[in-house]
Amino acid sequence: MIKKTIVLTFFCFYTLFSFSQDKNQNPDLMTLVKDLIKTEKTGQNMKQVWWLPNIYWEVALKDSPLGSQGLIDEINSIFKDYSLFVILDAELTAFSGINKNEISNLELKVNGKTLKPLESYSDDIQGMINALRPMFSKMLGEVGENIEFFVFDNSFENAISPLKESQFSLNFNDSNFEYNLPLSSLVSEKICPVDNKRHNGSWKYCPFHGETLMQDN
Ligand SMILES: [Zn+2]
Repeated sequence: MIKKTIVLTFFCFYTLFSFSQDKNQNPDLMTLVKDLIKTEKTGQNMKQVWWLPNIYWEVALKDSPLGSQGLIDEINSIFKDYSLFVILDAELTAFSGINKNEISNLELKVNGKTLKPLESYSDDIQGMINALRPMFSKMLGEVGENIEFFVFDNSFENAISPLKESQFSLNFNDSNFEYNLPLSSLVSEKICPVDNKRHNGSWKYCPFHGETLMQDN
């Protein structure tokens, strides 16, 4: 009898746990992109960070004529233990166009660790960045000519994962860009038990009633 209870309790815990990060099976590219891109505008200065985890490529290339499952798999395997970011810091002037600023003091803060971008990496990574660069130039026009790619190690314990509850920040040139995980575009919406309204799936509590939000099953 006791054994049965333990098994049942374990089962309940297990299902609760697996539901608590209920993955949104079909994330929308535009919603995902909004989660991945952070922008700061001050006067003519624009800073922008694109975090490019594997899920970005999976969603972006799935229905794109540029993409194929082969390419997605290749990107996934090349960047498996790394985090890839695209950064822009530029003055956008009406008359003299875009003037790029140098990216300095770049660091990634995650779980109490401070990481510096890798100064050198494999030919595979360099080759992939060279292949991706024109895609960004095409997508972003003149701005795309001024972006820079940075690669960080992501092979440590509690490495960054878009679906795992945590947060990290990318800092450079006196600006901080914070990411809160899981990305809300990747988790299913949750429901408030008080009024059954739907809320952001990455939230734990209803912002109006303070009640624990429930999974929509
Ligand atoms: Zn509520």
